Amino acid sequence: MDDQERELRRSVVEACREMATAGINQGTSGNISVRVADGMLLTPSGLPYDQMTPEDIVFMDWNGEWKASEGNVPSTEWRFHLDILRAKPEVSAVVHAHPTYCTILAILQRPIPAIHYMIAAAGGNDVPCAPYAQYGTAELSALAVAALADRRACLLAHHGMIATGVSLRKAMWLAIEVETLARQYHGCLQIGTPPLLPNDEIDSILKRWGQYGLRERSPQAGLAA
Ligand code: 13P
Ligand code: ZN
Repeated sequence: MDDQERELRRSVVEACREMATAGINQGTSGNISVRVADGMLLTPSGLPYDQMTPEDIVFMDWNGEWKASEGNVPSTEWRFHLDILRAKPEVSAVVHAHPTYCTILAILQRPIPAIHYMIAAAGGNDVPCAPYAQYGTAELSALAVAALADRRACLLAHHGMIATGVSLRKAMWLAIEVETLARQYHGCLQIGTPPLLPNDEIDSILKRWGQYGLRERSPQAGLAA
């Protein structure tokens, strides 16, 4: 294992713990992958984040062949991680979580509409909700890839959300932004039906967007924006 891979593994474990402290995930739910030259590094299935070490992270190649340390197997969601990274060459990291407000909307099978200009962070005028399929299946993977066709994040019906990024930090940033939008939308729905920003306004924001949002001061190899 070279220094770059060691650093990537360490950053995945750190991001897992950050999901818990940021309140977007708990226990063993959710999973994270980062792209490497010949495949991806992925969290192992079912291991609590507070016990996870860099050595527990699983390597999987583009054909789904994997290598893990004793006792570890790849996340049950390895298919959608692999398929998203294969389908979207610009994506370097995939974060999957079950954040409470995203999941409330996903249970209702409701996308997050353009209630706030930050919706543009996800790449369009909504955060779509992929239809339900059972966790860990090729069917769920196909639905997630379709929902992400022209978006950087989506909800998964009766399950949770996925956020992607050109770096792990950007994917984590987007995951937290999307949960914030879900919470704002949920709050609006307590009072009434929120008015939405029109499509041409979102188009205009998207034209200005560029590198707007999280700035990375010292991008690291494989983590760079
Ligand atoms: P894993 O522990 O297998 O990654 O599963 C968690 C999860 O969120 C499944 O959708
Ligand atoms: Zn899940």
